[in-house]
Amino acid sequence: MNRSDSEEMAGRLLAAGATEAPTMEAADLVVINTCAIRELAEQKVIGRQGYLNALKASNASLRVVLTGCAVRERDREGLERRFPAVDLFLRPDEEPELVDRLGLASAQAPVGAVGATTIVGRTAVGVADHLSATRAAAVASGAVQRGSAISAWLPIIYGCDKTCTYCIVPFSRGPERSRPFDEIVAEARAIAEAGFREVTLLGQNVNSYGHDLAPEPRFGHIATERWAGRRLDLGSRPDLAELIRAIDALRTADGVPAIPRLRFITSHPWDLSDRLIEAMAACPSLCESLHLPVQSGDDEVLRRMGRQYTTGHYLERLEKIRAAIPGITVSTDVIVGFCGETEAQFERTLRFLAAVRYDQVFAAAYSERPGTPATRLADDVPTAEKRRRLNALLAIQEPIGLERNQAWLGRDVEVLVDTIARERSHDHEEPAGDGAAEGEVAGSRGVHPGPGEVALSGRTRGNKLVHLAGPTAWLGELVTVRVDHAGPYALRGRPVVS
Ligand code: SAH
Ligand code: SF4
Repeated sequence: MNRSDSEEMAGRLLAAGATEAPTMEAADLVVINTCAIRELAEQKVIGRQGYLNALKASNASLRVVLTGCAVRERDREGLERRFPAVDLFLRPDEEPELVDRLGLASAQAPVGAVGATTIVGRTAVGVADHLSATRAAAVASGAVQRGSAISAWLPIIYGCDKTCTYCIVPFSRGPERSRPFDEIVAEARAIAEAGFREVTLLGQNVNSYGHDLAPEPRFGHIATERWAGRRLDLGSRPDLAELIRAIDALRTADGVPAIPRLRFITSHPWDLSDRLIEAMAACPSLCESLHLPVQSGDDEVLRRMGRQYTTGHYLERLEKIRAAIPGITVSTDVIVGFCGETEAQFERTLRFLAAVRYDQVFAAAYSERPGTPATRLADDVPTAEKRRRLNALLAIQEPIGLERNQAWLGRDVEVLVDTIARERSHDHEEPAGDGAAEGEVAGSRGVHPGPGEVALSGRTRGNKLVHLAGPTAWLGELVTVRVDHAGPYALRGRPVVS
């Protein structure tokens, strides 16, 4: 989500006449887009304040802007104290105002917009249509600086309406606001025409898409059921299933999906409807992979977390998905050491992971976030114990991940090549868990390029990282690869020459 937001801000700045500086030291403007999901993420930015102040001392025209989830209205005084080098703070919903607030807007750059604000609970956010409208304007004027020419992010819903007691997102990003259906399909069409091979629909809870939009007769056939959490009237509104079908229906002259790979992230179990499962199974472009955070394998911990589902509910959904889409890869998020988590409760999570056999688990130690409901519970699992539980979890998951990957040995997979590997001195695989979300650190990983070749990597439809050798011209191509090596976090293979 932050990467997508950064692409939009960078595009607005470029459209307003700014140019990219070669280094931070050479810049007159530094925009830091923050994450606040755990304390460490915020600490990293706080730790850079001294360096930024030093840069300001040597460049009087340098301005520093802080955006993203660390900027929360109720925390205004604290912000200036914690981030003394910052000149301008923008909440996530204020990011479209960046250019105007810096006084950079010009006649050539009609993309800036200052939005009206509303208060929801104790959180100040832009009015409902503000982010959608500014996004649509930015897309229409070409002012989204997409970081890749292969895969594109496509935000479909902003904010979060859920009640997870540990989580700061509902406070930093406000309530759920869906973008209008036709605007999303239009952006997908533009992405297809620009030649992108993959689109990821983005939102804190993509499968709740549409519930806040006005009912329309053309969506009269939709009566999505919500089986957990707060009951809503969901009839006659578009949902994620409808959106997936509409994007999948964008076809080339040969009748194949105009965007070969469609993904979505993240899914909350609340709105994982049968309609969505049916659409996933029916649409050829929809990739066979799902990220479905469970957070804990213990029902009492889930209750204290405010997740409003049980492990039984979760497993019922997962079984249905696995039956509908055979071979689908499944990943999850787990928090260890949440308030009051006993050893027995933690062990129940381990048994849950062993039973489900996820392809990948992103695990994190609980980090208390200011203002969240869980601050009223005692953060009573000691740090060392959280770390031990994290390691115990990884020790369970690593062999499972390895086995899941070994199942691909000898098979042919379609790889969307997206990275030229940097040279490394030794073969090395990514660590699991915290921070290993994506193949950011691309190494050659045991791939031995021949003449005219380089070490490349890409993803299967199931989102498995694959290393291979080939010409640079394969970047952005779908290549068939026979898997000949499997590690716990990545596969390696040789292109199948037809
Ligand atoms: N909307 C998504 C998750 C967004 S946050 C969902 O509900 O699944 C991404 C992940 O960060 C969460 O799944 C959770 O595992 C983790 N997380 C959120 N708040 C946290 C906290 N206070 N401490 C540790 N991990 C946290
Ligand atoms: Fe946070 Fe829960 Fe919303 Fe995910 S669903 S963003 S974990 S409150």
